[in-house]
Amino acid sequence: MENLASKMRERLPAELIAFLRIAGEGAEAQGQRLYLVGGAVRDLLLERPNLDFDLVVEGDAPRLARQLAKGEGIGGENEKGGERVTVHRQFGTAKFRRGNLSIDLVTARSETYAKPGALPTVQPGTIRDDLLRRDFSINAIAIDLSPASFGQLVDPHGGRSDLEQGLIRILHERSFIDDATRILRALRYEQRLGFKLEQNTERLLREHKSMLDTISGDRIRHELELILKEDCPEQILERAQILGVLQQLHPSLRGNGWLAERFREARQKATPDPALYLLLLVYPLSEEEIEHLIARLKIVGELERNMRQVPRLKGDLTALADPTLLPSGVYRLLKHYPPGTIAACALACDSPIIRSRLERYLNDLRYVKTSLDGEDLKRLGVGLGPRLGKMLEALREAKLDGRVSTKEEEEALVHQWLGGNLK
Ligand code: ATP
Repeated sequence: MENLASKMRERLPAELIAFLRIAGEGAEAQGQRLYLVGGAVRDLLLERPNLDFDLVVEGDAPRLARQLAKGEGIGGENEKGGERVTVHRQFGTAKFRRGNLSIDLVTARSETYAKPGALPTVQPGTIRDDLLRRDFSINAIAIDLSPASFGQLVDPHGGRSDLEQGLIRILHERSFIDDATRILRALRYEQRLGFKLEQNTERLLREHKSMLDTISGDRIRHELELILKEDCPEQILERAQILGVLQQLHPSLRGNGWLAERFREARQKATPDPALYLLLLVYPLSEEEIEHLIARLKIVGELERNMRQVPRLKGDLTALADPTLLPSGVYRLLKHYPPGTIAACALACDSPIIRSRLERYLNDLRYVKTSLDGEDLKRLGVGLGPRLGKMLEALREAKLDGRVSTKEEEEALVHQWLGGNLK
């Protein structure tokens, strides 16, 4: 069996290796066995950086965590010397943090699924049980951290060979039925790593894609967010469309060339934002379809508001094409829309004039402030009431259109209004 100790020394921070050795010895002293598992092992073999380390103990994770917390170089239950240990007795887990290193420690467990899409029933198990409950062979590899076999690979599902062949493979025929979030995870890993779905896995994925309906909105939304945080989410969405997975979330969603172009443009302009990507994804949908998706994915808060405004702003966009429209008119049309919605529409719309006006509003018009405020207007003789608000707004519009630029000009305009016009 292959030993990865020298590869670990080459690729992982020395302080982490030292910690893993101490932890492995500590586990052995308690009659337990410790393993490094999951994404960190996969990425070590692929020589990709990964600073999230998952450790699995055959035995009792909190017991080991408490002992490690007392030992050299690891802080206590609270912050100490930049290190942190948190123990969750009831979940059988613990977390260590140091700088940007994050180490999770859990008890090995086996899982059974009472019904598709539900969370599994878990009980303590062996490392092999723990690997068997995982999503794909490439994530089901462990490295033994016991002193006598430190670095030894535990690979019961051929994950090493699948890594070499570039294959995403589920571990058993019912995998997508038990937990259909794996359908979305499969596509995410496939595109991130430039891999392919193994033939039987692809067949079962197509066959069982309707099982996505058994997954709660929160879990689907979480997986969608993970997709949108990847470097090129458009590739995952395109693949999801080809396989009919995207349509399973909502029949009107499309991962097409139009979307890919918009995503790429969004990335050129600024740091990618999953919320902006999602607004672009729903841009072609009707109001009713968006409502459906908000309910299905349980979207709340700012994103919910921004999504809801997309079809409304789309309906107002043609008014922005009027060549005689002044900056104040642009401002008036857009001031009630959230910036997130406007940013998405600016990327999505095809008309250069509409797009430039949306961008001008976002970058400039919405920040324009008058020199005079409400107090100044009162001082100039404007009484309290709706008239004061109206006058402030009119002053802002005058400034937007360049009719006033200095404080004195604003005061002169207010005097003029008080003399007659805007009562
Ligand atoms: P990433 O893969 O995004 O770099 P990661 O591999 O650490 O990170 P997580 O989502 O943090 O992935 O999950 C940790 C491990 O838990 C995975 O490697 C995988 O083995 C397992 N896992 C996560 N979600 C599932 C699931 N739905 N079904 C089975 N195993 C899962």
